[in-house]
Amino acid sequence: MSYDVIVIGGGPSGLMAAISAAEHGAKTMLIEKGKKLGKKLAISGGGRCNVTNRLPQEEVIKHIPGNGKFLYSAFSIFNNYDIIDFFENMGIQLKEEDHGRMFPVSNSAQSVVNALIDRLDELHVNVNLQTVVKTIHYDENEHTVILSDGQKIVTKAVVIAVGGKAVPHTGSTGDGYAWAKKAGHTITVLYPTEVALTSNEAFIKNKSLQGLSLRNVSLSVLNKKNKPIITHQMDMIFTHFGISGPAVLRCSQFVVKERMKGRKQVPMLLDALPDETEEALNNKISSFMKDSPKKSFKNLLKGMVPERLLAFILVRNAVDENQKAANISKETVRSIIQDMKNFIFYVDGSLPLEKAFVTGGGVTIKEIVPNTMQSKMTDRLYFCGEILDIHGYTGGYNITSAFVTGRLAGINAAQEVIH
Ligand SMILES: Cc1cc2nc3c(=O)[nH]c(=O)nc-3n(C[C@H](O)[C@H](O)[C@H](O)COP(=O)(O)OP(=O)(O)OC[C@H]3O[C@@H](n4cnc5c(N)ncnc54)[C@H](O)[C@@H]3O)c2cc1C
Repeated sequence: MSYDVIVIGGGPSGLMAAISAAEHGAKTMLIEKGKKLGKKLAISGGGRCNVTNRLPQEEVIKHIPGNGKFLYSAFSIFNNYDIIDFFENMGIQLKEEDHGRMFPVSNSAQSVVNALIDRLDELHVNVNLQTVVKTIHYDENEHTVILSDGQKIVTKAVVIAVGGKAVPHTGSTGDGYAWAKKAGHTITVLYPTEVALTSNEAFIKNKSLQGLSLRNVSLSVLNKKNKPIITHQMDMIFTHFGISGPAVLRCSQFVVKERMKGRKQVPMLLDALPDETEEALNNKISSFMKDSPKKSFKNLLKGMVPERLLAFILVRNAVDENQKAANISKETVRSIIQDMKNFIFYVDGSLPLEKAFVTGGGVTIKEIVPNTMQSKMTDRLYFCGEILDIHGYTGGYNITSAFVTGRLAGINAAQEVIH
């Protein structure tokens, strides 16, 4: 038995590729090594399935700092709004949440995965679960997919949609890179992105801030001249090994890249009060001190920043719990404001790729045709999803990239082999 198109990998990119190939008349097989389809898709967005993002296309591309611009031509064919229509046409109503993130109204990730499975069924895609692809033999007229049990399946075109290497228990164990190399492709260096960061600062080691969450702070990664490379205003949390939370995840790839350039310790700047100027803070604190010189300084500052952060900053500035406002020097006030708005600390790495949300690096986009996802190195071979050197922030951007590249790969694989 031979196929027009075999799609390897049942994540969002492979599901979309298989549906699209079958919709375009291809006799299609989908091969997934796990027991279930869409495992990582189902755990995205905190388990409710962050299907896509409805910000304008330009913004979506900006939120894909890893080669998002490569997606311009793909987006002109199928974009985030088309993803929304695609799901709504299958009866999955979506709702918008913060930052444009789109979720099923039902809040059920499984409803999204089930809709995709039903569509595969309708289109008579031959779905093989618990089937592991070992390798692919590429030939002039057809390719052969070789399974781990030795079985060989012949197909005219192959779509590789096996994801990256992040969170491997979902099935994405990086198997596809070797098959891409075999087809003549270059794999750029793989690294963790959207990942928590580690630090050996004393306040991390002694756990004085562990568990403290800061809301809506501004966090920057600094270059060698102490200028911000990137800044994100979101929430963050101190952990037992370093820092995590949305602002940290977004900054993480820039830290990882600085470390890849040989910097061991990378400075980060935390502004806990990004919406207030230093001057305004200074005026506010000075007038509190003038009005209540006998009050404890700590009580005067209460509520400006979270209590544990305030206690930490006061200790750093050698201010006692009960020290009266009248006894605090102007220099100390200035220094405390610096710590609130310009607190610099060092990070020395990240958790490993296995613990990252997304893989940085992958099959280089230079060797992929941007409006078809076709390999420039081997005929009738297509790539889509996280295996490509494309990575975005969490918030629906990676899934958007997976669906969009999957759509193009599936349509074009079918069109190439069906005459
Ligand atoms: C916890 C978590 C939360 C996330 N949240 C978000 C979010 O909110 N927004 C967002 O945009 N992104 C999020 N992501 C990232 C997003 O889920 C991925 O980028 C996306 O799933 C990638 O899709 P994919 O189809 O390329 O690969 P995957 O979803 O990784 O699917 C690849 C599939 O290929 C199969 N496979 C692998 N090797 C073989 C083989 N040899 N034979 C057969 N099958 C094989 C795997 O079993 C797997 O099912 C999150 C990731 C994680 C881990």
